[in-house]
Amino acid sequence: MVLSFELILKFIRKYRKVFQRYVYECTLKEIMKFNANDFYLGTTEDNLVGLFLSYSKKLSKASNKEICGNVVHLIWNIATFTTDYLCPSCQESNLRISSSTDHNHIYETCDNCLTTFENGEFVERPDEMIPATKKEVDDFLINAKQ
Ligand SMILES: [Zn+2]
Repeated sequence: MVLSFELILKFIRKYRKVFQRYVYECTLKEIMKFNANDFYLGTTEDNLVGLFLSYSKKLSKASNKEICGNVVHLIWNIATFTTDYLCPSCQESNLRISSSTDHNHIYETCDNCLTTFENGEFVERPDEMIPATKKEVDDFLINAKQ
């Protein structure tokens, strides 16, 4: 998982000019700084290997825009921490922990219905969100238990 994550990051760095056209500026800037060790990788129950294979199949025929979108989606899927808490809104998916690109806000968000919470309050889903780091996840979980 660490290896494939690093490979994806390498790919993004290599083609950053292309990614710049299709990915939000702050999001991309943060992704470029990512380091596999800073994240809990692969906490989703999704089959990531299957996902990866289906992406690579799709990518061979995809446009640059689709490739960039899928690659960023893959980063999200691998690196965003999945909690044990079921989404209270749709009850179909577990909430995941993300951060604003400036790291000033931590969100719980549902990939299924897009419901998003900050400090337990419902908020509008931000356009830009990045996976929360290990430290952010740890801090969040400690606070959530109190
Ligand atoms: Zn939901």
